[in-house]
Amino acid sequence: MKDEKKSTRIILTSKEKSELVIEGVVTVILLILLNLAMYMILVQVVEANQSLEEMIYNIKHAIHNMYDSNLSLSWRIPSLMFMGIADLIVLYWRLIRRYRQMQQRHIISELHYISNGHYDHRIPFKLGGDLGKLIQSINALVDSTVEAIEEERRIEQSKDELITNVSHDIRTPLTSIIGFLGLIEEGNYRTTEELLKYTHTAYSKAKQMKLLVDDLFEYTRVRQTNTPLNIIHFDMDQLLAQLVVDYELETEKSGKTIEYTTTPKPFVMSGDTDKLVRVFDNLISNALKYGQGGSKILIDAKKVKENAIIIVKNDGTPIPKKSLTHIFDRFYRVEESRSQHTGGTGLGLAISQNIIERHGGSITATSEKGWTSFIIKLPLDNDDEKN
Ligand code: ATP
Ligand code: MG
Repeated sequence: MKDEKKSTRIILTSKEKSELVIEGVVTVILLILLNLAMYMILVQVVEANQSLEEMIYNIKHAIHNMYDSNLSLSWRIPSLMFMGIADLIVLYWRLIRRYRQMQQRHIISELHYISNGHYDHRIPFKLGGDLGKLIQSINALVDSTVEAIEEERRIEQSKDELITNVSHDIRTPLTSIIGFLGLIEEGNYRTTEELLKYTHTAYSKAKQMKLLVDDLFEYTRVRQTNTPLNIIHFDMDQLLAQLVVDYELETEKSGKTIEYTTTPKPFVMSGDTDKLVRVFDNLISNALKYGQGGSKILIDAKKVKENAIIIVKNDGTPIPKKSLTHIFDRFYRVEESRSQHTGGTGLGLAISQNIIERHGGSITATSEKGWTSFIIKLPLDNDDEKN
């Protein structure tokens, strides 16, 4: 069965072959009977009608003069030949029709095979004509259906993962909050400082939870592709200048510097500025939080053909190679970052990637030679949303 399925030709079963032979034999018998009947009728008609015989004779005579052939051939032989040719055509037509029916039967059985759950199977036959086109369309339909099912499954699975992650990430601070509030409620503290320490911990855990919920809300919002981007024309040079001003104090406090360069100036392009600022906010705050031991944050924007290439980079602790492919996954945080009190949720880069992709661009990360870089590629013209 399997081997037969793999063949690109339709191989007839022995039952079908004998069906075809029987069809041929029955057709031949029927045609012979029909011919006999026609021939006899013809003979009678011609013999009963003397003038018709004379007319045929005259035509024969004229043809004989033209081709100088044997006059002894009577009118009967050409009419028999004509019937023979007509018989062959009818026989061929009947057999080919039956053969096509068998091909259709094979295609239907392949379809049943697929619909019985063998979604990785495709109709293997390579046929010409309409049947060939039908097979191609069916295979394409199965392909797209399977793809849609898999996409649905992926979405379902990623939703489950999301719920698991969120419940885990909410439960951890919530347990602390309940624990510390419980101590206060039961009067389980000795000094006012202790009480303040407990409330402070509960408060900061509650803030951590709020951050997660906010991020989650933002994440689900940017993923909803039916909320349109608010695309406007803007100057990337001005946008970066404003960002650098906004972060100057914070970077100074952590003993770092922040600089930017843009070519050309002004750098006009289109995009949703609120969302793009969200991306840069996350990249700069990541550089501040995770660029341990580093002192510089550099932003460089330039035009390359139809795209804007914007690189946000920082020195300091690099991202381990094995983590580079995961940092855009939601909730992913490099192991060391988890233990630090950086308070992130691991959603920032997933949100950033979504925003960039909805602009029809891409974001990648590298971490080498002492620099961790995030490279953003955005189409300059973004009149229409890509997703
Ligand atoms: P959030 O942005 O949601 O508050 P987060 O900053 O932990 O949380 P992401 O921005 O998605 O989440 O970053 C994921 C992880 O990638 C970080 O936890 C950190 O480990 C690593 N990372 C990101 N940027 C850098 C960087 N510039 N240098 C070193 N590690 C980084
Ligand atoms: Mg972040």
